[in-house]
Amino acid sequence: MLGKLRPVGNKVPLPVAADDTLPWEHLYCHEFTRSGAEALGLAVGMAIMEFPRIDSPEVLMPAYACPDIVAAIISQGAKPVLVDLESTLTPRMSIEDLLSNITANTIAIIAVGFLGIPERLSVLSKICKESNLFLIEDSAQCFPPESRKDGFADFVVLSFGRGKPVNLMGGGAVLIRKDHHPRCRRFLSQHNVVDLKIGVAWHLKRLIFNLMLSRLCFALLERVPFLRLGETSFQSLNDIKRLTIPKGLVVAGTAQFYRCPMWQVVYGKTLSFLDDLGWIRLHSLLVEHDGAVGPALRYALIAPSRGIRDVMVRRLNCAGIAASCFYGKALLDIEGVAEHLDVIAKYPSADEFSSRLLTLPCHDGMTDQDVSIIFECFRSGLHSISL
Ligand SMILES: *Cc1c(COP(=O)(O)O)cnc(C)c1O
Repeated sequence: MLGKLRPVGNKVPLPVAADDTLPWEHLYCHEFTRSGAEALGLAVGMAIMEFPRIDSPEVLMPAYACPDIVAAIISQGAKPVLVDLESTLTPRMSIEDLLSNITANTIAIIAVGFLGIPERLSVLSKICKESNLFLIEDSAQCFPPESRKDGFADFVVLSFGRGKPVNLMGGGAVLIRKDHHPRCRRFLSQHNVVDLKIGVAWHLKRLIFNLMLSRLCFALLERVPFLRLGETSFQSLNDIKRLTIPKGLVVAGTAQFYRCPMWQVVYGKTLSFLDDLGWIRLHSLLVEHDGAVGPALRYALIAPSRGIRDVMVRRLNCAGIAASCFYGKALLDIEGVAEHLDVIAKYPSADEFSSRLLTLPCHDGMTDQDVSIIFECFRSGLHSISL
């Protein structure tokens, strides 16, 4: 096998001259940053600012999530408090566990959308209103953000990183609901601004980057050990700067993402036979009845066991499809995370979820033939496992 279909990553577009409004602009103002993690740092910082009397602020977040969220919380001097998942079969937080973790020091809940599946913002915003907390929607993996509809979240975080829906080779945004914006202006102005220059260097970087998305390049890059492609690690966040991203680039990135087929719908039909074999198709379970709004970032499946998941990830990769275990671990097991937590409890659903999750590509480089290969891999692979 010569090349491999990358797990994630849409092509980087050229900026357009468009002055279209972005999907959140009627409810939120935005501030661009150099990454999603920095944007989240700003969101947490703005929430802390509203609670001057709390010395040791705590922020609730799911126990299966991106370690950048932990880094963003501690960058502002707050403590992350983990909440277990509702069950093995959903990436959403357990409401019971969430409520039992609210203390006098809690200032915010981070609602993390998962691969295009948003959290239940209406439920969480009700809890936040009752307990006087801020609701931060981390929509790094979901585009457009869920809060654009009803403005449930006080702040929303987007990422324009390479593995995210709108791929601009980096960057992020914090969206600030308009009722908060006047109070947040001073806080934001304390952070320096850097310019994103769309010059020769940027165009060259884009060309090389898009070239690297090809099957052949991905298969080669994956073998370079120091690149550690796809590995999840904890990196602290030390400095936050605002970034001036030309609006036409964000508009173009958004259009590029929407051009991508709704592969989750195709997977839903092709892989429905997995239901009878003990698999869970997360997107079908959690999104389809709401009506999918756009392409998904990846397609998520929960295998009947870790063993079967691992066999299928290996088989798919041998067949040239970069299926993945995603983070591979619950947050506590990612090196460097535990030392930043005051309370270390058990999170059985997050552990189990991380051990059975398998993700499939959904990006603009996929073809119908890839779907056939994936179907065949599952059919023959699962047949041989059951023998
Ligand atoms: C990727 C990601 C981030 C961080 O975004 P970067 O732009 O990579 O810093 C934050 N939260 C979630 C859920 C993410 O997937």
